Amino acid sequence: MKKPQTKSKHAAKTGGGLETAIAGAGRTRDIIRRHGFKFKKSLGQNFLIDGHILDQIIAAAGLDETRGALEIGPGIGALTERLAQASGKVVALEIDNRLLPILREALSPYSNVDVIHADVLKTDLHRLWEEHFAKSAGVSVVANLPYYVTTPIIMKLLEERLPVEHIVVMVQKEVAQRMAAKPGGKEYGSLSIAVQYYCEPELICIVPSGAFMPPPKVDSAVIRLTKRPEPAVAVPDEDRFFRVVQTSFAQRRKTLANNLSALSGKERKTELSDLLESCGVKPERRAETLSLEEFARIDAALAAADMRG
Ligand code: SAM
Repeated sequence: MKKPQTKSKHAAKTGGGLETAIAGAGRTRDIIRRHGFKFKKSLGQNFLIDGHILDQIIAAAGLDETRGALEIGPGIGALTERLAQASGKVVALEIDNRLLPILREALSPYSNVDVIHADVLKTDLHRLWEEHFAKSAGVSVVANLPYYVTTPIIMKLLEERLPVEHIVVMVQKEVAQRMAAKPGGKEYGSLSIAVQYYCEPELICIVPSGAFMPPPKVDSAVIRLTKRPEPAVAVPDEDRFFRVVQTSFAQRRKTLANNLSALSGKERKTELSDLLESCGVKPERRAETLSLEEFARIDAALAAADMRG
């Protein structure tokens, strides 16, 4: 695939409503009809057809010629094309081999794109980084994610501690709200804590279902997760910290003390209540009201008291 030497009509920078770009209802319908492509619901195939949403995704990703982008699930290449124009290098992982010839054709004007037939969840991303992004000044993950695997993909990106600058992703609206939620509301839970431990979240825009072909049943949102240089709180053992968080949210209606007694043992419940008080947390509070700092304090106190479940 060649990167255009001169700006071809495919390489035009503006996205919104551009007839010649891959995004757009007319061109998408044409590509799909010509290749006899049938959407697979089971793979979360809802392709973006709104160039203005692509503009917002690209602006949020902060790319330039020195930077790279990893795309998960390029589909027929609407976002991939824009990433190729905005960055120095694009790697796109696509699970559906029926899309590979379409992508080859659609992205033929670009030499800075590598499309790899792979399941992102089974891909060694550290190796991919070494092989493809060694020369990039920074790399961001930019994707319209398949909704059936959004959380496992986000958790893989975060837990593997990849050198990512930003993660700019389209997800189901409710999932974006949960990732960005602050303590005190019903959206706040273990996903909010896991994401905010590693990143600063920022909601970029809400996207109606009409921006996709075929339209999904739910609204979507673009969220930007900016990787923190260090996690938000210092915890000696991350696995244990997240186990404490998960246990705290096990039954949302129960008090913190009731949920955490699964770790301390019922016979040590009074001791557990005293321990929570010593952390400045009332035992009758519910997990959804606790900040990351409070969870970190409780985790350390539970470890010191040998209440680890
Ligand atoms: N990026 C395109 C767009 O915005 O129009 C397509 C996005 S569509 C929501 C999700 C894409 O992810 C589909 O192309 C689907 O085949 C692909 N996909 C689904 N599961 C995947 C996985 N585990 N690994 C890689 N790609 C996957």
